[in-house]
Amino acid sequence: MTESPPTSPERVESTAVGIAIIRRDAHGDWVANVANRQFFNLAAQAQRTDTPALPVSVRTLVPAAAWAGFRDALHACFTLPQASTAEQAGIAHDGAHCWRYSLTPLARANDSATPLEILATTVAIAPALPNSALAQTASASRYRAVVDSAYDAIVTIDQSHNITLFNRAAENLFGYTAAEVLGQRIETLLPETARPHHSRNVRKFAESPLTELRPMNPPRMDASNSVFGRHRDGSIIPVEIAISRIDVDGHTEFTAVVRDITDRAQLMDRLKKQAVTDALTGLPNRREFLEFVEKIQRTQVALSVFILDIDHFKEINDNYGHDVGDEVLCVLANIGVDQTGEPGVFARWGGEEFVAALPGADAAQAYSIAERLRLRFERQDFEHAWRLKPIPFTVSIGVVTRKAGEHNVEALMKRADRALYRAKKSGRNRVEIG
Ligand code: GH3
Ligand code: MG
Ligand code: MG
Repeated sequence: MTESPPTSPERVESTAVGIAIIRRDAHGDWVANVANRQFFNLAAQAQRTDTPALPVSVRTLVPAAAWAGFRDALHACFTLPQASTAEQAGIAHDGAHCWRYSLTPLARANDSATPLEILATTVAIAPALPNSALAQTASASRYRAVVDSAYDAIVTIDQSHNITLFNRAAENLFGYTAAEVLGQRIETLLPETARPHHSRNVRKFAESPLTELRPMNPPRMDASNSVFGRHRDGSIIPVEIAISRIDVDGHTEFTAVVRDITDRAQLMDRLKKQAVTDALTGLPNRREFLEFVEKIQRTQVALSVFILDIDHFKEINDNYGHDVGDEVLCVLANIGVDQTGEPGVFARWGGEEFVAALPGADAAQAYSIAERLRLRFERQDFEHAWRLKPIPFTVSIGVVTRKAGEHNVEALMKRADRALYRAKKSGRNRVEIG
């Protein structure tokens, strides 16, 4: 014997879907002529036992927070011209429960596009998140979006120094995906040389009162600002880094905002180099030379210096032009560097005057270096492809040796200048010791 199929009301009750048939009453209010218990459950009390008498005002069934959206959807079903586009769907939640609803026009009057009734179905999609949880989810995803759209790399480590957050910019900067480094030690992102000290530095930073005193202005962990990261391919990346300490559930975490400053670091290097280099010859300039000599004068190391001046250089300029004069200066610079060698320094003092510092050289050694140099110019016995044409020239040189306890670089250079003057006075193309 086969069981008879359930009657319509039974069938309506047995489904997990909330169903109602809704129409407008004579006052224009939305009423449900038919509704099952699941549909009634839409009205906030998830497991209500009473079933209101039909017809019932839909407004009393729909959670207050969802009513405006639900009403607009009902209205749209009545007013949209095509039944196919008139189906309306949405989400309703009452803070504790969440439903997806769908509204479909059931019948239209023959002469108009107006439906007479609307079939409403509801499905509980998940226990709705409490409001605070919804807010947390929203703020967490907003936070994630902000972190991922940040221009700077953002890396967070927990108190064991394992990486807990690694945004897109960090992926680009370091060449790792977040999945690869999450849970890994922060040292993965540091050059080998920085790894042994890093944990200690972080601990020191963690204990620093600065982080509490200036929470709005996160201190740099490395005051020198010359911090380096390590790319996955092993290359070293100059970075600027600002670190803040945050406390999460009683645990200390650190968030580092890391900016790639490769371009800036290269520019700084270039500017620094320019500041101490003579543009024409590429030699160290006067400032660099004086710094070098002062450094040696702070030690007990023996030191000789000489000043070299091209003889009648003005005539070279006058006879051959300024460009040829410039080339003579460059030729002289190359030979000067070659002749003085390490650890000496050959520099441009200014104009057609050059200087050499010879650490460790006494007067006799310095004289012989200067004399060899003078002779090379006199004989022009160097291989050099003159860009323009070979120009014979000679030089005069004044040599001095640092006196015991002499620390004044200006006094030393003045003595060398006097020796040079004597060389000029004595006929040029010669070396004089001061
Ligand atoms: P002296 O033997 O007495 O040293 O005579 P001098 O002609 O070498 O000396 P003076 O100081 O009268 O002339 C130096 C010349 O060097 C004058 C200046 O125009 C030239 N000079 C200075 N700097 C440069 C430069 O960068 N390039 C060129 N081509 N000439 C320069
Ligand atoms: Mg001169
Ligand atoms: Mg000269």
